[in-house]
Amino acid sequence: METNKVSILAPELWKRPSAIQEVRPGLYQIKLTGVNAFLLDAESDGLVLVDAGVRGSGRRILDAIASIGREKSELRHILVTHCHPDHAGGLAELRKLTSARIYMHRRDAMLVATGRAMRRLLPTPGVLNRMLYQVMIAPKPKTVDPVKADELVGNNDVIPVGGGISVVHTPGHTEGHVVFLAKKKRAAFLGDAAANFFGLRLMPAYEHHQQGVMSLQHLCRFEFDVACFGHGHAIRLDAGKLFRAKWGKGAPKAKGAQKAKRAPKAKHTPAHRGAPPARRTPKPVRRPTSR
Ligand SMILES: [Zn+2]
Ligand SMILES: [Zn+2]
Repeated sequence: METNKVSILAPELWKRPSAIQEVRPGLYQIKLTGVNAFLLDAESDGLVLVDAGVRGSGRRILDAIASIGREKSELRHILVTHCHPDHAGGLAELRKLTSARIYMHRRDAMLVATGRAMRRLLPTPGVLNRMLYQVMIAPKPKTVDPVKADELVGNNDVIPVGGGISVVHTPGHTEGHVVFLAKKKRAAFLGDAAANFFGLRLMPAYEHHQQGVMSLQHLCRFEFDVACFGHGHAIRLDAGKLFRAKWGKGAPKAKGAQKAKRAPKAKHTPAHRGAPPARRTPKPVRRPTSR
């Protein structure tokens, strides 16, 4: 008599889950060790990678690209949200293996160029955040193999690939943290400005907590449907609305925001402090720096 039992030898049970998943047509999430990177098909401008994972992720990213039938030579642009080793750790390997250009904000590019990829981080207020900080952040490496960015990007720059990718300076998690907005895909690449595990939330640590919250409030002015996070699940629909409900005007005050120390006023004060209009005339990305 036949049974419906599934044999444990069935090959589908042993298949490793794919490291790359489509978030939206032409937009992929690549799951790396403890962090996500994202791949954007910018059509005639080639493939765009957002963040590069921990040290040793270069090969895995190229394998993921090959698994969707694309060539490593198609990877032409690498946008980096910030300097931390789980986002910039794979850059040196990708520099060797590809000819992609690397884009970063000046304040964080300075660190990655020296290999020192961390400034002092303070845990976000709250018991869960402190626990997550101990598990996720405190024990992690603090250095990367040094890499010099090709393009230094800043607030309101528009990278002229894939119909335009806007740069929003979002300091707080790090001084030079940026969020990339891909207009055509209506997608925001958040890096570690926020996270989406146990729901949409602050990261467990920031260099300047209050500045990080202000950056999220600033992001509420922009329109996007898809939100891609360094840590946690991507939001595929109505992400901008969810951000406004959490951090927009009239949203309940972020837990612990009052307890946090105000960030000291520094030369690198975010360009949005003076509350500029959300939509400025796009300016082209700055000219390449020498490697
Ligand atoms: Zn980070
Ligand atoms: Zn991270």
